[in-house]
Amino acid sequence: MQRRYLIITAHPDDADIRFGGTAAQLVKAGHVVKFASLCNGNMGHQTMTPDALAKRRYLEAQASKEVSGICEYEVWTDVGDCELTPSLENRKRVIRMIRKFQPDVVLTHRLCDYHADHRATGQLVLDAAYLTQVPHYCPETPIPAKNPVYGFVFDAFTDPRPFRPDAAVPVDDWMELKFHQLDCHVSQFYEWLASEKGVTIDSARMTWEEKKAYLDKYWGVRYVDAANQARQTLIETYGEAGRAVKQAESFEYTPYGSKVTVEEFRELFRVEPPAK
Ligand SMILES: [Zn+2]
Repeated sequence: MQRRYLIITAHPDDADIRFGGTAAQLVKAGHVVKFASLCNGNMGHQTMTPDALAKRRYLEAQASKEVSGICEYEVWTDVGDCELTPSLENRKRVIRMIRKFQPDVVLTHRLCDYHADHRATGQLVLDAAYLTQVPHYCPETPIPAKNPVYGFVFDAFTDPRPFRPDAAVPVDDWMELKFHQLDCHVSQFYEWLASEKGVTIDSARMTWEEKKAYLDKYWGVRYVDAANQARQTLIETYGEAGRAVKQAESFEYTPYGSKVTVEEFRELFRVEPPAK
């Protein structure tokens, strides 16, 4: 049965980082995936002007859409970085997005994430989760027959409690594709985020092998940490094969939408077990 997945994040690249490998596997299995970014990314650079950067990041997101095979990469081009708030207007916008897409699964950031835009996004999605089911709220956009299941994407924050990997997806065999997804966001991975790490590189002069080595050095560890944190879940889902998984993306269930068991939540993310 085909399912529909909607990930609502703050910036154009957040979904790629947290869900890219899983999204590609779900698409391959015949499911439909949409990424959404509620900010336009206009502050994520050390030299580019915000207007020029927002335009560039929109195009980077669309390039990633093609690489990932997802149906849409929506970007709220009118909302600047660091300015997203859980306003009534934005709440209604998120409700309409969810109702129109008719997802089976909605993913977002946890409320203890580091960035104000991430927290505002998570708040907006959780606020929308119940209100999508209220008929007199945004009545011009009909309520779909199914109420989605909601979940959070992996983060490493521990206060007030660590992320709980209720579902985990091996991405060992999909790292090449994940690097291609990240590679689309040149302004981020080779410029802004590189500068934040004190690294100066010229991606235009790098070979693909050099780019992969760089992306793996600074970003690959995230998926190793996620796999190790989710080891028990990986073993319960994939048996012995789960023990050998090196890199994973993981997801936490939240009961704000349709209520399912952890086992049912896990099944929503089951993919082909990794090749030996
Ligand atoms: Zn972000």
